Amino acid sequence: MAWRAAGKKGTFPSLTKALSVRSRYTAAAATKFDLEEAQRTTPVFVGQVQGCFMNAAQWKSNCTNQLTYRFPIRSFHASPEMLAWKKEPEALGLKIQKKGKFKKRTKDSSPPVEAPYVPPKLKRAASSSLSDRTVEIFDGMTTVELAKRCGVPISVLQDILINVGEKVDSEYDPLSIDISELIAMEIGVNVRRLHSNEGAEVLPRPPVVTVMGHVDHGKTSLLDALRLTSVAAKEAGGITQHLGAFVVGMPSGASITFLDTPGHAAFSAMRQRGAAVTDIVVLVVAADDGVMPQTLEAMSHAKAADVPIVVAVNKCDKSAANPERVKVQLATEGLPLEEMGGDVQVVEVSAVTKTGLDKLEEALLLQAEMMDLKSRVDGPAQAYVVEARVDRGRGPLATAIVKAGTLVCGQHVVVGAEWGKIRAIRDMLGKSTDRARPATPVEIEGLKGLPMAGDDIIVVHSEERARMLSDGRKKKLEKDRLRRKMEAEKLGLASESNLEDEEGEVEEKPKRVEMAIIVKGDVQGTVQAVTDALKSLDSTQVFVNIVHGGVGPISESDVDLARACGAVIVGFNIRTPPSSINQAANKAGIKIKIHRVIYHLLEDIGNSIVEKAPGTFETQVAGEAQILSIFELKGRSKARGEDVKIAGCRVIDGRLIRSSTMRIVRSGEVVFEGSCTSLKREKKDVEAVGKGNECGLVIENWVDFEVGDVIQCLEQVNRKPKFISSQSGAVKIEC
Ligand code: GDP
Repeated sequence: MAWRAAGKKGTFPSLTKALSVRSRYTAAAATKFDLEEAQRTTPVFVGQVQGCFMNAAQWKSNCTNQLTYRFPIRSFHASPEMLAWKKEPEALGLKIQKKGKFKKRTKDSSPPVEAPYVPPKLKRAASSSLSDRTVEIFDGMTTVELAKRCGVPISVLQDILINVGEKVDSEYDPLSIDISELIAMEIGVNVRRLHSNEGAEVLPRPPVVTVMGHVDHGKTSLLDALRLTSVAAKEAGGITQHLGAFVVGMPSGASITFLDTPGHAAFSAMRQRGAAVTDIVVLVVAADDGVMPQTLEAMSHAKAADVPIVVAVNKCDKSAANPERVKVQLATEGLPLEEMGGDVQVVEVSAVTKTGLDKLEEALLLQAEMMDLKSRVDGPAQAYVVEARVDRGRGPLATAIVKAGTLVCGQHVVVGAEWGKIRAIRDMLGKSTDRARPATPVEIEGLKGLPMAGDDIIVVHSEERARMLSDGRKKKLEKDRLRRKMEAEKLGLASESNLEDEEGEVEEKPKRVEMAIIVKGDVQGTVQAVTDALKSLDSTQVFVNIVHGGVGPISESDVDLARACGAVIVGFNIRTPPSSINQAANKAGIKIKIHRVIYHLLEDIGNSIVEKAPGTFETQVAGEAQILSIFELKGRSKARGEDVKIAGCRVIDGRLIRSSTMRIVRSGEVVFEGSCTSLKREKKDVEAVGKGNECGLVIENWVDFEVGDVIQCLEQVNRKPKFISSQSGAVKIEC
């Protein structure tokens, strides 16, 4: 066996120690040679180098030649002291910091003049409220993790846990996802539940499809025609009840789930509530009419939601039908059609003659296959409401589409802010069933209140838990509503709340923020010109994102899209929208800006951009004071710390603010920067002292004041970009 090196690289002092060790301890761990034999032949046996046994003299000579060596002795019976001496603390089970981790502490005599000024991290303003923040929660997270994500002390969470009656021994114990949500709601933050697929059965699932397009292009007719193609519907003599969604079973066994509410409003409403239910959008375009404003809107909706499109060119039975023209129009609008080298499939259909429906279904299945749609089948269900109504005899009914897991009759559920125990589940044929699997639309009965489309459905283990979560969500909704109302009142404009919301984020993430805009104009040329002009306001701090541009008046659908994307609606050369649209926009906190002069429009949007921009924080000297004398405060108790030195100064410029950072300048050089722990004027604590006044101040961790030192009060200022317009009419945002 080779010798295990017990020593580190060393020189002679180590060798001398090694020899003395040898005199007291056995130094061999030999298996392949006889130790006694070795000791006999080499009277003062030390070790083995390249297979030769050596005595000390030979060893020394060998090491002299090599200058450095690896000490090859392993002591087997060494005492703890011995091991410690040999710097093997690990062998003793001691935790000793490795060399090199610490630097020797030197007394800093020279001032840190070379060090660049690093402004202290700004505290989040209290106004950047928690209610704007969304934290991700999951089953099994600890109190520590949740506290970190919510940005509140662990003790606060522990108090809430006691209040909700949950017993948790340690802050490292796992919490259930429901308890985490309850705590988060109590604190006031929004939550996004992360559902785990771990260890579960994950299987392919049918796609969920929404039909969109311009009015009268045949969305409803197409859905009706598709509904009739379902194998199950044929067998059952038609779909007996309207659920808001239906499944088309194909002869191959594959199936597609269609959401039965055509149009953009339902799509936007669901998206706005965070329900990513739709996998594919079928864009219906009439072959005799071509691309229309709502066709473009539908494209924008799908693009904003990142949902792939399959185009159905409808009414191909008509004599005036011209599918080729439609395709060229769509390609001109930027839709990458498959036959032109893109990935968007186009199918020619007729909802009246029911031709091409099989091809459309095939195209949808192909798209789904490419998307590799899969869901967890077992475990608690995660579902969304697609429609809800109240039935006189059966109470509130909700149509749900299960996204993952299985929804089982008798389970306690929380649906949005409502709760209930599932009394009955019915499929689209009206048949009672005991469970619903992914992508199957079902109607559930047993809720205590009426939920809204897009609300999530979660399964909880008890009625008590369901009640608690529902109460918590209701309270949170009410709190948020009141807060928004108060903010709107404060600003005088409800629509301003959107900008405010995002400013809260800015302090933590001084990144580029997005300004989403929807442009509506009188003619296509205007829309293009306005879009291009607005894009010229793109800057390093604010990114102008035109989410949709269209011709015609501002519609409800524009408001829906604006709400889903947090966009501002810009109308150019169009009439003022009717009061119903204005009211809807106001309610949703959407700004509508109508202009007829391009410069005014750019100035208006430019100012909004400046307002929305995070800005850059800069340090500025707010005031200067000179030290006139130094006082020492002695005799303080041990608990309160060491003696304190007070700098007696006179403010020579600006003002000193207690909450600011102070910089000490001596002979023109910065010697220290730190926070002010006390600022007094005539023995009274003050927040600020103005020019010409005398004051006493204490700076944290600094006592080496000298008479004549200058104390600068540093202030953080947020420098916002500027909207600049030249005489030629050119505009830009200067950061
Ligand atoms: P929606 O507003 O998009 O839902 O359109 P509808 O489904 O209500 O259809 C509007 C009109 O177009 C109705 O009169 C339909 O009969 C007609 N229509 C729909 N699809 C076709 C079709 O494929 N061929 C013909 N000729 N007419 C159609």
